[in-house]
Amino acid sequence: MTGRISPKMVAAYLREIGIDYLPVPPRAGSFVADESPAVSAGKPGGAAETLEDIRGELMACRGCPLCGGRRTVVFGVGNPNARLMFVGEGPGEEEDRQGEPFVGAAGRRLNQWIARVGLRREDVYIANIVKCRPPGNRAPLPDEAASCLPYLKRQIRAIRPEVICTLGAVALQYLLGTNEKITRVRGKWRELDGIPVLPTYHPAFILRNQTREPEAFADFDLLAERLHLR
Ligand code: URA
Repeated sequence: MTGRISPKMVAAYLREIGIDYLPVPPRAGSFVADESPAVSAGKPGGAAETLEDIRGELMACRGCPLCGGRRTVVFGVGNPNARLMFVGEGPGEEEDRQGEPFVGAAGRRLNQWIARVGLRREDVYIANIVKCRPPGNRAPLPDEAASCLPYLKRQIRAIRPEVICTLGAVALQYLLGTNEKITRVRGKWRELDGIPVLPTYHPAFILRNQTREPEAFADFDLLAERLHLR
């Protein structure tokens, strides 16, 4: 037999022999150290890894137990050349059904915030810490986040956004590796591998705590200022 064995074929084979998922040990180190040499250096032939390359691999992922409960893998959506990228926590029920992040009530609120800075949802890129729905919409567990995070970091490398905005405490915690309280850190610039990161509230939190929305508006003003959007 000639040709490459795809991750999909490997996953199908593992399922056939009764292995539902393979725990992937968290890879130590920073953003760059997370990447395989092929990813860091680009693929053979010199082309950089694209979102579609990453999507193809992720669709067959069985790296943590969340794969057992998913209907779809919620990869991410938006402009592959986005200047602004949002990172949420993980898919909810509606996202799991539709295969797209932030399509429920929280997503509608996020769309309004994006419109406030003069952008459309199609202009930005939206992804999550984990790509498969945690049961009952609970927060992802540390092992689940550690297993999925390399995919997100590869998405960030493929998109190369000028600015990242984390939505909520969980995205802040797992992407930046901090336990700082979201109420303290929101609106304060952080950095991930040279990319400015602005933490703000999760839109679902704001739906339950409307009086705090002016703080989210202020954070979006900072994003607009940074990107010279108005
Ligand atoms: N909440 C998230 O964090 N991500 C989604 O995709 C939807 C809701």
